[in-house]
Amino acid sequence: MVIETLAVLCVAGGAMAWAVRGKSSRIFAPSVWRGPRNRKAMALTFDDGPSESTRELLDVLDEFGVRATFFQCGFHARRLRTEAAEVARRGHEIGNHSDTHPALYLHSRNFIEDQLSRAQQSIIEATGVTPRLFRAPFGVRWPGLAAAQAKLGLMGVMWTAIARDWALPADDIVKRMAKAARPGAILCFHDGRELTMRPDISPTIDTIRRLLPVWLDQGYEFVPVSELTGLNRR
Ligand SMILES: [Zn+2]
Repeated sequence: MVIETLAVLCVAGGAMAWAVRGKSSRIFAPSVWRGPRNRKAMALTFDDGPSESTRELLDVLDEFGVRATFFQCGFHARRLRTEAAEVARRGHEIGNHSDTHPALYLHSRNFIEDQLSRAQQSIIEATGVTPRLFRAPFGVRWPGLAAAQAKLGLMGVMWTAIARDWALPADDIVKRMAKAARPGAILCFHDGRELTMRPDISPTIDTIRRLLPVWLDQGYEFVPVSELTGLNRR
């Protein structure tokens, strides 16, 4: 009986963990995690920026003529307004990644709405762009998020594969993400490191510089998330 109860709790715990963090979970808020598999296209996404090194990453993307989606934090958009605006100026899509990058787990509805709306306001002020996409910090969703997203007209975006580029050296990120490439994939990288100032994002930049020519040779095209998923037709 004790074991049965434990098993039930484990199953419930697993289901709860999936609801909060599962990439295809829509329990707490609507989201997408991939595009259709019938087009040889992928979306590169970069979270936690802008940072002091975002411009270097933009130069690499320009070199290959690739447009991506940047999920910016309000905190960094206020701190580095010119860099935030430069991302939009070079034709990339801008999404909302909360204001100060908290895990939304266990937070109140008001807190969640405040995080999304402060970021939205700061990103609009810095870039002139109104985000339509939201990526939850750490991929953590929680009750109250659906209402906050709806109020601001934001669709949630998870990922098909995440680079772990905050922790791994470039060689390992290249291996990991080369394996993850497939039609319709949304790939998650980082041009910042949560709230860190002057973060070292060189493993991310090296990875992009090494993988883009390989993927382009394989015939992949790169489009922003809203184009990959058809959300731009809303
Ligand atoms: Zn993040």
